[in-house]
Amino acid sequence: MNRRNFLNTAGLSSLALASGLTSCAPRFNASSAQVMHRVPKLKLSLDRIVKETVGLRPFRASGPRIAKETLGSKTLVHNYGHGGSGWSLSWGTGNLARELVLSTGEKKVAVLGSGTVGLATARLLQEKGCEVTIYTKDLPPNVTSNLATGTWSPASRVCDPKVATPEFQDLWEKATRFSFRRFQFMLGLDDIVSWVDEYGVSDQPFRQQTDVALGGEVYHLAGLIPERRDLSPNEHSFGSRYVSWRSSMMFNIPSYLHHQLSTFIMLGGKIKVQEIKKLEDIDALPELCVVNCMGLGAKEIFNDEELTPISGQLACLIPQPEVTYKLNARGASIIARKDGIYLGGNGLVGNWDTTPKREVTEKFVDTIQQVMKEMRS
Ligand SMILES: Cc1cc2nc3c(=O)[nH]c(=O)nc-3n(C[C@H](O)[C@H](O)[C@H](O)COP(=O)(O)OP(=O)(O)OC[C@H]3O[C@@H](n4cnc5c(N)ncnc54)[C@H](O)[C@@H]3O)c2cc1C
Repeated sequence: MNRRNFLNTAGLSSLALASGLTSCAPRFNASSAQVMHRVPKLKLSLDRIVKETVGLRPFRASGPRIAKETLGSKTLVHNYGHGGSGWSLSWGTGNLARELVLSTGEKKVAVLGSGTVGLATARLLQEKGCEVTIYTKDLPPNVTSNLATGTWSPASRVCDPKVATPEFQDLWEKATRFSFRRFQFMLGLDDIVSWVDEYGVSDQPFRQQTDVALGGEVYHLAGLIPERRDLSPNEHSFGSRYVSWRSSMMFNIPSYLHHQLSTFIMLGGKIKVQEIKKLEDIDALPELCVVNCMGLGAKEIFNDEELTPISGQLACLIPQPEVTYKLNARGASIIARKDGIYLGGNGLVGNWDTTPKREVTEKFVDTIQQVMKEMRS
C-alpha cells in the first residue's frame, strides 16, 4: 500500500471508528472504496410533537447594523438585525461591536438584550476587562434566540445581496471567520456545540438548487466547513436520486444559553430586567457606553424602518438518541438536538404573527415522512 492509499484508508477508517457509536455512522465499504451512510429513520407522527413555535428573525436588507453613534452624553454601539444567522455570527459581530466600544476607552458598559447576540457581546467585553451590566426586557428562554433551529448558517437571510454593499460582505466575512474560530473552542463543552452529518435530499443536484432551498444562504465562504458533495446511490440509504452530504456544526440551544448566562455571571456580570421604552431610558442608564443588542426590539426605539421580521415556524419532536443528523429535503428540514428533533423550513417576510399554524407543521411532517418512506432499509 503506498503512502497516499494508506492515508486515505486510515482517514476513512478512523472516521468510521470515531462515529461508530451511533447507527448512522458512515461505514467504509471495502469493495467499492466508499463510505456508506446508514441514516436511522425518524419516528415521525403528529402525536410525537411536543412543542410548536414561531420565531421572528430580525432582518435588514443591508445586513446587521454594526455602528457607533452619539446619543446625548452617551456612546451607543449598535449590534442588531442578524436575520437567520444570529447564532452563527454572534461572536463575530460581538467582536466588531467590542472594537467600537474599546475605541471609546470606557470600561463600564451596558448591553441591551440577553439573546445570543447580547450574551456573546457581553462575554467578549468581559474578556477585555470591561464591567458589564445587561439590561433586558426578557431573559432566556423568553427570547427569539431560543426559537431558532441552531445550525451553523452565517449567511442565512443575513441581508439582501442586491442591497448590501461590498463593504458589508467584507464585514460579514470577518465576523464569520471570528465566530467559526470561537466555536472550535466550545467543542466538547457539554455538547453545546457539535459537528453533525448534514444531508440534502432533492429532486435536483444541489448545485442547481436555489439559495432558499439551501437554507437562504446568501453568501458562501469556502474553506471553513467541508464542502457539500453529492453521494452516489450506493453511499446512502435514501430513496431519492440526488443526495448531498457535508459535516456541519450545530448548537444545542438550551444548554448554550445557560452556559452563556452562567459564565457571564461567574465573571462578575450583572443583569437587570428592565424594558427600554424610549431613547430617554437609555440616556438615564449609569453607563456612558451602551451596546444595543435588542434584535427586533430595536425597531421601535431607533425607528429603524429597514428592520423587519422573517417568521419561522418550528415543531419539536421527542428526541431519538440514535438520530443525530441534519436533513434538508424539498423545502423542509430537521435537526436533531439534545432537547428534541426540530422540524422547520419556512420564512415569511414581514409576518409579525407568532401563532403556530397546524397546517404548516403538517406540511413539514408530510414532506419528511415521504423521505422516510422512500428510504431503503
Ligand atoms: C425559526 C428560526 C430559525 C433560526 N435558525 C437559526 C440557525 O439555525 N442559525 C443561526 O445562526 N440563526 C438562526 N436564527 C436566527 C437567530 O435566532 C437570530 O438571528 C438571533 O436570535 C438574534 O439574536 P438577538 O440576540 O439579536 O435577538 P433576541 O434573541 O431577540 O434577543 C433580543 C434581546 O433584547 C431584549 N429586548 C428587546 N427589546 C427590548 C426592549 N425594548 N428593552 C429591553 N430589552 C429588549 C429581549 O428581551 C432579548 O433579551 C433562526 C431564527 C428563527 C426565528
